Amino acid sequence: MTESVTELTQKTATTCPYCGVGCGVVTERFGEVVTVKGDQSHPANRGRLCVKGTQLGETVGQEGRALKPKIKGREADWDSALNRVADTFQSVISEHGPDAVALYVSGQLLTEDYYVANKWMKGAIGSANIDTNSRLCMASSVAGHKRAFGADTVPCGYSDLEKAELVVLVGSNLAWCHPVLHQRLMAARAQGAGPTVVVLDPRETATATDADLHLALKPGTDSAVFNGLAHWLTTHGGVDEHFVAENTQGAQAALAAAYAHSSVSDLADHCGLNTRDLQAFFQLFTESERVVTVYSQGVNQSSIGTDKVNAIINVHLLSGKIGKQGCGPFSITGQPNAMGGREVGGLANQLAAHMDFDEASVDRVGRFWGLKQVANHPGHTAVDLFEAVRKGQIKALWVMGTNPAVSMPNNTRVREALATCPFVVVSDCIETTDTTAFAHVLLPAAGWGEKDGTVTNSERLISRQRKFLPLSGDSRPDWWIICQVASRMGFASHFDFQSPAEIFREHAALSAFENDGSRDFDIGGLAQISNDDYNALVPTYWPCTQGSSSPTVPNAIFSDGKFYTRSGKAQLIAVSTSGTSSTVDSRYPMLLNSGRVRDQWHTMTRTGLAPVLNRHSPEPMLLLHPLDARTRGIADNDIAQVDSRCGSAMLRARLTASVNSGQAFIPMHWTSQQASSALCGAIFSGPTDPNSRQPELKAEPVNIHRAPIAQHVLLLSREPWPLEEVTNNAAYWVTSALGNCHARFMGFSEVRPDAQGWAINLMPACDQQLVAERGPKMSMVVGLKDKQLHQLIVVSEQPVNQEVNRLVNFFAEAEFSLALQRRLIAGMACQPASTSVGGEVVCACFATTDEDIQQGVEHLGLESTDAVAAELGAGGNCGSCLPEVRQLIKAKVVG
Ligand code: SF4
Repeated sequence: MTESVTELTQKTATTCPYCGVGCGVVTERFGEVVTVKGDQSHPANRGRLCVKGTQLGETVGQEGRALKPKIKGREADWDSALNRVADTFQSVISEHGPDAVALYVSGQLLTEDYYVANKWMKGAIGSANIDTNSRLCMASSVAGHKRAFGADTVPCGYSDLEKAELVVLVGSNLAWCHPVLHQRLMAARAQGAGPTVVVLDPRETATATDADLHLALKPGTDSAVFNGLAHWLTTHGGVDEHFVAENTQGAQAALAAAYAHSSVSDLADHCGLNTRDLQAFFQLFTESERVVTVYSQGVNQSSIGTDKVNAIINVHLLSGKIGKQGCGPFSITGQPNAMGGREVGGLANQLAAHMDFDEASVDRVGRFWGLKQVANHPGHTAVDLFEAVRKGQIKALWVMGTNPAVSMPNNTRVREALATCPFVVVSDCIETTDTTAFAHVLLPAAGWGEKDGTVTNSERLISRQRKFLPLSGDSRPDWWIICQVASRMGFASHFDFQSPAEIFREHAALSAFENDGSRDFDIGGLAQISNDDYNALVPTYWPCTQGSSSPTVPNAIFSDGKFYTRSGKAQLIAVSTSGTSSTVDSRYPMLLNSGRVRDQWHTMTRTGLAPVLNRHSPEPMLLLHPLDARTRGIADNDIAQVDSRCGSAMLRARLTASVNSGQAFIPMHWTSQQASSALCGAIFSGPTDPNSRQPELKAEPVNIHRAPIAQHVLLLSREPWPLEEVTNNAAYWVTSALGNCHARFMGFSEVRPDAQGWAINLMPACDQQLVAERGPKMSMVVGLKDKQLHQLIVVSEQPVNQEVNRLVNFFAEAEFSLALQRRLIAGMACQPASTSVGGEVVCACFATTDEDIQQGVEHLGLESTDAVAAELGAGGNCGSCLPEVRQLIKAKVVG
């Protein structure tokens, strides 16, 4: 496995490892430098990339990588580490049975990794205790699909959004979470005949600002809206009577349950909506022939997520808007290979290849694998799994490619589980994460760019992820690690895979085994694929059956009106209209929502390495309505404390009317590596949906108050600045790499009497320190080294974070000239002549701020996104910021 780095330029077509859009990318390697472009030939993105994709080249270095196996923190060779894992799992199984061990895996694994992980746990060990972080993402969609269609079938493709007359986005901030798909939708709409876009979301997100109609419904009332729509369809000629009679069952019961409000105005009142808007949406849905309803985490991450999914599917079944081009309910996954995980059976309540634990399936899979002890009942799902670890029922746990100490709800308990579990294995490509801290054995996994395999995106499109870099250090691909452990446990003949292509062939063959059209997932057409053809595999949609040619366009699934239920008919499900299971009270009077920011991914282990991506949101922000802020004495940029029934966090407050009064929003990404106390999972208690066991992450009752921060500090440094002692004394801190410099935002509960002296003492590496004051309560110390601006500290009794973008630009200047000194020190409000005026970064590619754009509109007459792109760059590269640019232009032009 040793390889050498070639200096020759190398070009590789592969797939972006972030969101479920699954964009094709072309990497070009010039020695150590990797550049990334969109793949023009890939059907998902046709050359487009969002800002995260464009910055992939910045994340493939060795920084922070796990390079050697470790046992109890000490470097070890692979043999010792693998033997330790195999022996410990074996002895736990021998003593306590197969259900005393578990695997917690990831939607970021490749399908081949996932396949062998599932086969090892369910086939070799005989337990179904394998669950995945995709449980937190789309388990409710899986459960909803299975209830309605009899199988976990996603009936749509991306091109359906372009063919629809109406696209409804429910609980989906597509513009930030699936930016390229949003761009495709906006491009289709710009063509005139493109779809009308309606957004249902409690927040006014970037997606909502781009919509024709935004329904800012109360959290948890999605089912009520869709039940109301179902009832409206029956009274306004919107039911496809023939389709309902021939192809569905359960309409009567579903409609009886749907009728909960006597009028649209009653329903609007219940959902916190304007009657006219709600009626307009109902009319649009009824009158549009082709409707796609896209939904995402706002629907799935709910304690009633499965009911929400079925309420959406119900209206498509009632109106017959399914199985046709430009029609259907469309779940978009958050992760790059959540779909691949579902295909192999990576969820604890699936067996394999879209088969469940019925006797026939267990027997079939056992015969196919040649293993007798195949698991015959579901295992623990994510939340229950960690609870079983905490209670001591699971004694050996392997966490693979994910960071549950951050991402799981109620994570104080999850950390307790990890801390008390007798044996924890973590395989990851990153050495130091909140989760690797608990590892008894750390296994260095290959990173993106170093591994080969396939992923499936949200539209059932299987794409190759291709290796274009040598393995870092002693890291190994996940499939290899699992096969090695399985072999050491006596299953060598079942895990004797030499390449991902071999695994893929077995996976494809299982999907077709005794299938004959009875199961939706069938890629038997690829079961005999040669190694060369696997290497050259072009993006291929499933199903792709034996004897058929590999489809490169999405199949019109369900076009024959046949479903995978016993009766062959789709099932309408009677769903409740009740809201969240979490209710506010006088102690916790506000509902907290959570989600992604535009330029970060999951727990930032990779995106946090790309400085360009940190500039849009360098700190985690609590979005709060000004009215709620005022009653709590919180001003913009203050540090706020959020308390829930299970934990607390401290975040920078951002006052905005984009959240309704009584609600607040926090991002999900920040970990203990980057912030003192911004763990989303610490606040959310995560009650689970009874059908999908997916935890609620959108509506947690909380109390919010101003944190007692007396002194604010902003530290900027050209080089990383070890400041553990200072950081440990801070009540609040966040660290962020911003390109020209590294930033640390801090808050102290007491005012330091000699702030300037303290700051000067922190700069021993500097040749010279200059001091400036703005009034008695704000001072700045500038440290110079080799005639360059090296370090800078601002100390104030008022928040100083808003200075960051202006000050970062000073680090771009090669020499600390007198002119720069005058601008920086003399005024503290002046700015470099040739760089940004300040404000918040909107366009990460060009570091264009909101103030740049506002001034461009006002003084240069830039009244279109094209004009802004031509003059300022913003929006002209990846397009991720276009919704914000459009909004800024609109606000300035309309006034
Ligand atoms: Fe990657 Fe962005 Fe495409 Fe998602 S939309 S797959 S993050 S490039």
